[in-house]
Amino acid sequence: MGDRNQPNARAVIAAEIARRGPMRLDRFMALANAAYYATRDPFGRAGDFITAPETTQAYGELIGAWMVEVWRAQGAPAPVVLAEAGPGRGTLIADALRLIDRLAPDFAAACSVHLIETSPTLRALQAARLGGRVAAWHESLASLPAGPLFLIASEFLDALPVRQVRRRGEAWVERAVALAEDRFVWTEIPAEAPPRRAGEVNEAAEAWIAEAAGRVAHATGALLVLDYGHGGGAEDTLQAVQGHRPVDPLAAPGEADLSAQVDFAALAQAARVAGAAVFGPIPQGDFLRALGLPERTAILCRHAPPATARQLQAAARRLIDPDAMGLLFKALAVLPPGASTPPGFAP
Ligand code: SAH
Repeated sequence: MGDRNQPNARAVIAAEIARRGPMRLDRFMALANAAYYATRDPFGRAGDFITAPETTQAYGELIGAWMVEVWRAQGAPAPVVLAEAGPGRGTLIADALRLIDRLAPDFAAACSVHLIETSPTLRALQAARLGGRVAAWHESLASLPAGPLFLIASEFLDALPVRQVRRRGEAWVERAVALAEDRFVWTEIPAEAPPRRAGEVNEAAEAWIAEAAGRVAHATGALLVLDYGHGGGAEDTLQAVQGHRPVDPLAAPGEADLSAQVDFAALAQAARVAGAAVFGPIPQGDFLRALGLPERTAILCRHAPPATARQLQAAARRLIDPDAMGLLFKALAVLPPGASTPPGFAP
């Protein structure tokens, strides 16, 4: 694929390495993913990977219902910002809004919808999907309007760049990318800023959640993170996916999706330090079962043609099954200090 108006990631990365020497892994990942998402719709069977909201409308609907309940528990403030970071095709937020419009017209009336998205291609898809419903698009959290914030991040943080650092004797080193003739190869460089800990560190995701949690803690609202991840201590979970298959992350930057598992322990800690109350992480399967995914799926199937019903059932099983997405994927909620336990997180 590729777009003539977009700089070619391979050429940009090669030129920077030629000029400055080996490139830190996080810079490589940031440049590769920016080019990747800027130039395509990667989702679905014909693309590179399939995400939860693309498999069943129940996923976005349950998240919409979750937001309504949390909003009511906080005394139904108005107006509020309803935002999603990295909305992809806009499917999750469209499904959530359809349910909100029906179930909670008061919440619908209080919400202005804001999307955080850097890709021009995906912004266009989101606009086509959501029409005039989107108040504004943003490059980052910083420009969201002030006030109560209800924010969703589903498979967003895994796309943010990671560093991989380790000790070598007395020194800290980190993973970097070098050029060998016309190929990218792994190398190690002295760690530039003293890292907080060894292993794989997602500084961008930690800074992001600290900023979001700070807002929620001070202006009310909620952040719901759904993503694949671990409980801390990982060294290398970087993966590249193209056409639904794992590929070499260095083979074609900008042509494959790069992601790394989210460190939920680090995210929870960053949110707590920012002053927020944190619930979870809990397995996605437990969360979606508690919110009623099986029951919602059964209702949708009653009115669906048999082939659609089979798809909806398969999607629900995939989201809940511990051997599929039920255990590796997790849910984390960030709320104002003193907030009661949100739906799905009760022990
Ligand atoms: N949540 C969607 C899409 C996940 S893919 C789904 O589950 O289907 C990651 C999304 O994050 C894409 O929309 C991508 O363009 C966006 N994205 C990646 N890096 C970003 C960044 N640094 N800032 C804002 N959006 C980003």
